[in-house]
Amino acid sequence: MRFSKFFAPTHKEAPKDATLPSHSFLIRAGFIEQLGSGLYNFLPMGKMVHDKIKNIVKEEMDKTGAQEVSFSFVTPAEFWKQSGRYDVFGKELLRFKDRKDNDFVLSPTNEESVVNMVKNKITSYKQLPLHLYQINTKFRDEARPRFGLLRGREFTMKDGYSFHSSEEDLKREFDVMEKTYSNIFTRLGLNFRAVEADSGAIGGSGSKEFMVLADNGEDDIVICTNCSYSANIEAARRKPKTTNAEAPEANMMSKFHTPNMSTIEDVANFFKIDKFYTIKAVIKKAIYEKEEKVVVFFIRGDDELQEVKALNACNALELDDANEQEIEKANLVAGYCGPKDLPEGIDFYIDNELKDAKQMICGANEKDYHIIGFNVTSFKEERFKDLISVNKGDKCPCCGGELDITKGIEVGHIFQLGQKYSSAMNATFLDENGKAQPFYMGCYGIGVSRLVAATIEASHDEKGCIWNKQISPFELEIIISNTKKDEQVEFANNLYEKARDLGINVLLDDRNERFGVKMSEFELMGFPYAILVGKGLEDDEVEIVARDGLEKTKIKLEKLEEKIKEIF
Ligand code: ATP
Ligand code: MG
Repeated sequence: MRFSKFFAPTHKEAPKDATLPSHSFLIRAGFIEQLGSGLYNFLPMGKMVHDKIKNIVKEEMDKTGAQEVSFSFVTPAEFWKQSGRYDVFGKELLRFKDRKDNDFVLSPTNEESVVNMVKNKITSYKQLPLHLYQINTKFRDEARPRFGLLRGREFTMKDGYSFHSSEEDLKREFDVMEKTYSNIFTRLGLNFRAVEADSGAIGGSGSKEFMVLADNGEDDIVICTNCSYSANIEAARRKPKTTNAEAPEANMMSKFHTPNMSTIEDVANFFKIDKFYTIKAVIKKAIYEKEEKVVVFFIRGDDELQEVKALNACNALELDDANEQEIEKANLVAGYCGPKDLPEGIDFYIDNELKDAKQMICGANEKDYHIIGFNVTSFKEERFKDLISVNKGDKCPCCGGELDITKGIEVGHIFQLGQKYSSAMNATFLDENGKAQPFYMGCYGIGVSRLVAATIEASHDEKGCIWNKQISPFELEIIISNTKKDEQVEFANNLYEKARDLGINVLLDDRNERFGVKMSEFELMGFPYAILVGKGLEDDEVEIVARDGLEKTKIKLEKLEEKIKEIF
């Protein structure tokens, strides 16, 4: 490609809302442009990168025997009503009507479509397993579209769905996908981790996220500094916390007057005990499909509630802070709420680590009173859930090593769905005994357009993008320092042809621009290498610049071809 003919409009200024380097550089360098909130056009270079990622994903998926299909982006709402998700998906699902008043959605994901595709066509266990995938547009009306391609409303996803006759076979495919994803992200040249993830309302049958490690990632990941344990903070576990602090001693459970001591801090100071021995109540409003109710979560005084875990515990659609009126109406006393003698009918959950805890101090459910010497022993098993946020310095649940927290960008998610959708949509096969059973399903996503930005978020410097060879729009740029010098133009043109003959994807900067402009655009766009053809020609040499580190090396012309072959 000759730059003089190439459509790559650059910008000096970053867009006002660009807070991340990837967002700013991709727009400034002319890879993408914004046309609305969470909506982007891909310009030629953006499209090249996008499609290179797409091809690597496709190649690796095809190797596993998965078959590519394409689902209609516009989906009849009917399927979503069958699965029960039409009402519960929330505002991310864009719903609309056609001219005949029929309801439709723009696909945010395609479990419904794929079940409908397979249903009544795959009827016997002999036809299983089956894995169908597509690489296609998705729409999610995200509450806060931001960070450019990292959280768009319209985006490209690879979404695959597998069907199995048993849970074991589903697990086998899950492992195949875990390996396949690792191959994909390795080929993309990314520094990533597969982490244990939250399986949401679907249940704990197993799900893993693939995270690109990047300082600006939206996700917190817990990693063990000693073994390979890693998890999204939403699903992270730890070895139960212990303390050396002295336990409070009360001969019997009793009520204590604690006026104006409504925080854990106040209570711990008053009784001169470690917060470890207190129970904190976090009062929330849980929003369900048809109702809202106040729910109380009890955790240790020195822990924090993990919102996603709390949401899963009570199976709500959303959790909100409960306000004063709502707390009062539920007959709860803010600051003095405890698990003993809660008002009738209040929904509550207790953190697993509090199970069998002895000699605790908690609210008495009465203004200005706390209870001391409370034992957490008389509650039903189903009250106990994992509710707490894991912190840096906590101990690893696998090896006891120290846990650390780092940031990541979720680029893939693999999931054992089980029979949730097949049951809801009545999609069955006949098993070996001739009995109808819902399919066991898995689903597997990769954020293809998100990967364009995630790559740069993980690989850039203050001047711009640093692409690796695998997905860079061009592997090499040849820059003519001064297009008024015929010998430079002629040499560069010959070199350009030679590089193309060698199969190198090369851009020739033949524009009549100042050298400084061309160089800073090379730095901004970030192709792996540039060859500078300039004055050095008089001494029979050119310079090679590696974008990563911007190191320049002079090369004698007679060594040039050899050097090019060595690099590419
Ligand atoms: P997130 O937690 O980031 O919202 P998600 O859990 O909603 O992601 P999935 O439903 O698992 O994501 O979708 C599969 C993949 O699609 C994700 O791993 C991510 O890479 C990508 N993805 C999801 N939402 C977006 C978005 N708004 N913009 C770009 N890519 C997205
Ligand atoms: Mg999401």
